[in-house]
Amino acid sequence: MTTDCLFCKIVAGDIPADIIYQDEHVIAFRDISPQAPTHILIVPRKHIATINDLESTDQLLAGHLLLTAQKLAREQGIDQSGFRLVMNCNQEGGQTVYHIHMHLMGGRQLTVLG
Ligand code: 5GP
Ligand code: ZN
Repeated sequence: MTTDCLFCKIVAGDIPADIIYQDEHVIAFRDISPQAPTHILIVPRKHIATINDLESTDQLLAGHLLLTAQKLAREQGIDQSGFRLVMNCNQEGGQTVYHIHMHLMGGRQLTVLG
């Protein structure tokens, strides 16, 4: 755990979150400032600061994030209507929390990317 990392604190249970799924590798909770009716963050338990810091040994973990998003989209009932997955990297990518996470958004018509 990286002590000054917000998502490490949520993973550790030190900061509360509306957790909707967790397993050995990932935790998923609702975004505190949702941009869509369904807005979930899927977060690896392991601290990885940015996508740039992923290593080849993280290949299974990276795939697990994607398959967890698929599962949660189905469970949230947005798999057929449609959804969007987003991972922001660094400042110009709009990253604000430096512990990688996948946004799962759906439940309304999403418009083109900004
Ligand atoms: P980023 O901008 O790094 O891609 O996404 C960070 C996301 O984390 C934002 O959508 C923001 O609303 C969310 N967030 C920031 N602080 C908290 C928090 O304390 N709890 C939860 N559940 N989400 C947070
Ligand atoms: Zn962290």
